[in-house]
Amino acid sequence: MLNLVLFGPPGAGKGTQSEKLIEKYQLIHVSTGDLFRAHVKNQTELGKKVSQLMADGELVPDAITIAMLEEEVDKNPEAKGFVFDGFPRTVPQAAELDLFLERKGSKIAGVIALDVDQLELTKRIAERHKVSGRPDDDAEKLKKRISEYFDKTIHVLPYYEVQGKLNKVNGMNEISTVYNHLCAVIDKY
Ligand code: AMP
Repeated sequence: MLNLVLFGPPGAGKGTQSEKLIEKYQLIHVSTGDLFRAHVKNQTELGKKVSQLMADGELVPDAITIAMLEEEVDKNPEAKGFVFDGFPRTVPQAAELDLFLERKGSKIAGVIALDVDQLELTKRIAERHKVSGRPDDDAEKLKKRISEYFDKTIHVLPYYEVQGKLNKVNGMNEISTVYNHLCAVIDKY
């Protein structure tokens, strides 16, 4: 199995690049943001629990997020591997993911962090807001999401760095250039 984490702040290009990578490497894309949005849209019990937090740009509690992620992975027993996008976002999520995969005799092979500066992130999300209509892409909510990233999520990087799994890729380049850099990293695995 080839399990990868695509890491980075909102607007770094995780979703765009994940779509391209799963096609090339025949992996399953697991985006916790997409899964939560589907629950909200379908008005499931879970969707009702998380919709306000998401609308406010706050993280969903770890226990809820981890349970949903594990369920999604378990739905794909034949998978060659997964690209995790937007997960893990806290150190406890990262630790739980390791334990969960270990129970399956698997592991995270590598983590790729997309580096993009804050000004560029803000510009990209403003553009995306015009087309996606995602309520949490508006300027105020985005500020909260970026602050959640720097308060809670950034600490996931050292967690993987000590495991020798962290790779950094410059996400400021064009989509195709970033993609080529990602492939060069993944091909090592
Ligand atoms: P995203 O599409 O990845 O930007 O996620 C959208 C929203 O879903 C986030 O702002 C959080 O409210 C929630 N969310 C997604 N992934 C996670 C996660 N791993 N942990 C906690 N909340 C999450």
